[in-house]
Formats: sequence, structure tokens, C-alpha cells
Amino acid sequence: MPNRLGHPLEKPLFDQLTLIGVGLIGSSLARVARRQNFAKTIVAIDSSEDARKKIAALHLADRVTGDYAEGVKNADCVILCVPVGACGSVAEKIASSLKAGAILSDVGSVKGAIVSQIEPHLPKQVHFVPAHPVAGTEQSGPEAGFATLFNNRWCILTPPEGTNKDAVAKLRLFWEGAGSNVEEMSPSHHDLVLAITSHLPHLIAYNIVGTAADLEAVTESEVIKFSAGGFRDFTRIAASDPTMWRDVFLNNKDAVLEMLGRFTEDLSALQRAIRWSDGEMLFDHFTRTRAIRRSIIEIGQDSATPDFGRQTKDDPVQ
Ligand code: NAP
Repeated sequence: MPNRLGHPLEKPLFDQLTLIGVGLIGSSLARVARRQNFAKTIVAIDSSEDARKKIAALHLADRVTGDYAEGVKNADCVILCVPVGACGSVAEKIASSLKAGAILSDVGSVKGAIVSQIEPHLPKQVHFVPAHPVAGTEQSGPEAGFATLFNNRWCILTPPEGTNKDAVAKLRLFWEGAGSNVEEMSPSHHDLVLAITSHLPHLIAYNIVGTAADLEAVTESEVIKFSAGGFRDFTRIAASDPTMWRDVFLNNKDAVLEMLGRFTEDLSALQRAIRWSDGEMLFDHFTRTRAIRRSIIEIGQDSATPDFGRQTKDDPVQ
């Protein structure tokens, strides 16, 4: 896979970029912003003192603070990298300190709920461009990030109708410079697509690992011992951050429940095929799903290596 990261910019996109919540995604953005010369000054805000110490020790920002007003007041671009459920209260805290003409964005995995949480607090002269980088790992915190996380991944922008075109174009440049392919869609369409491609798979992983953990009491350590057969990949997804995923399900309820309903119907059809020994149905179904996996590899969104080719800090997909 080619590395899409280009040369660092000669002229930074922003005088000051402020990142709020510098965990996996925020620290990856700080790293890529530094590397690509996206901003003259990078400011990091985090509510956790422990995270602030780590951000400073890793030299991820020029300034690290817990003071929201001070951290955003001179920023040309502010990106919220906090859990989805915290976006509304953070927007409320910073609203009156944002400077006129600033771009406000976020990286939340849900878009409709974030737009409705943030918009009521938004000053008129601030340009709000919501974004979701479809890239991540099951790790959290400032040490977990890496500059190639967004390379060759999608970033979905969901600007409300009438958003300033220059602001959208600038954020597009930012994400393309981070290595991403950028697409625009409405928040509700984003939430429906992500419900099936990301949210439901996580729910299934959390459920299957939970069921196996309950069984483990009966089978002792066999679940862990024989975990190579498919289950191991689920355990990795089910190790994803509990706060982040609680917030995703609470904030994308309708789309997830809609997809869960369809999933349950299809599962019942497979259950019936097994019960009635309908090998033809099972074979046709598995052939169709195998083709989907192949097409994902062909468009470069994953590798054919074992482990789902999921990027890690030590072995980023280039
Ligand atoms: P993370 O590693 O847990 O980082 C979140 C950071 O935000 C933590 O340092 C956290 O501090 C801090 N924080 C929480 N509430 C805050 C507040 N009110 N003000 C300031 N800082 C606050 O999480 P992440 O994986 O980077 O996820 C961040 C966002 O990215 C979420 O909205 C998520 O939906 C989105 N996203 C995640 C992925 C992924 O795969 N992880 C992919 C795409 C998008 P504490 O640790 O003290 O709470």
C-alpha cells in the first residue's frame, strides 16, 4: 500500500491548532500535525492530569493545559478528540473563548448526536466542520498514537448545509495531508453506514467474548487455550475502549437498533439452515461474504495477512 503522506507543508495551514482530549486519536493528530507542519503552534488540552503529564513528556504539543478558555482563545482550528458523550459539555466550555473565523471540528465516531450536542453552543462567527477519521486501534491514551494512523484510511466530513466553503476546504487539506481519503456526507447517512460497518461488529465482538467468558467458568481455560480459531480476532475488538464504545451505542441508538434487527433476522436464517442441514444455503452465503472480504483487500482498505491486517503502532500499514 503506498504511503500517502506527502512532504511537510512549507507554510502551515494554521497559526495555532488546539487539540482537546489527547488520547489515541488526538495524539496521532498531534504527531501528524507536527510532522507535516500543519500549525506554527500546537496546543493540547486534556482534563486528565495524568494525560497532560504524558503529553508534555512525549513533546506532543508546544503547550499543554487544563484551562479550556486559555487553550482555545488564539486557535484558528480546534479539534475535539474527546469521547462522543463529552463533546457537548466541552463545546459549552469553550464557546465564548473561540475566536471569530475559527474552525471547530471533532473526530467522534457518531455524527448526528454530536451535531445536535454542539450546535446550540456554537457562536455564529465560528465554522463547524464535523469529521470522523475511520481509523483506529483498540488502544487508548497519548502513548498509543502514531503519525501513520490515518494513512490511506477514510475521513468522513459532515458539514451542515451552508458551512463556509473555505473552512471545509481547509479541513479537507488537513485530512488529506494526514494521509486520508476524504468524503463528505450527511450526519444521518454517516451514522447508518457506520452502524453496520463498525458499530454492530463491535457489539457482536463484545457479546461473543462475554458469552465465551461466561462459558469459561464451565470449560476452565479452554476458551483462552484454543482461542486461535476466529475468537482471538474478536477479543481484540472487544478490548476497545469502554468509554468510547458506551458513548457510541448511546448516541447512535436508532441506526444500531435498525441494523441489529436486520442482523438478528439474518442470523435466524442461518440458524434455520443449520437446523435443516441446508448446506447449499450456507455455502452460497459464505461464498458471497468471502467475495466482500476480497473486495475490501482489493481497494486497499485491509491487507490479506492474518490478524485482519489491523494497523498497530509497531507495524503500521504503509
Ligand atoms: P482516548 O484514547 O481515550 O482519548 C480521549 C482523551 O480525552 C483522554 O485523554 C481523556 O482523558 C480525554 N478526555 C475525556 N473527557 C474529556 C474532557 N471533557 N475534556 C478534555 N479531555 C477529555 O480516546 P480515543 O480513542 O482517542 O477517542 C477519542 C474520540 O475519537 C472519540 O470521540 C471516538 O469516538 C473517536 N474515534 C476513535 C477511534 C478509535 O478507534 N479509538 C476511531 C475514530 C474516532 P481520560 O483518559 O482522563 O478520560
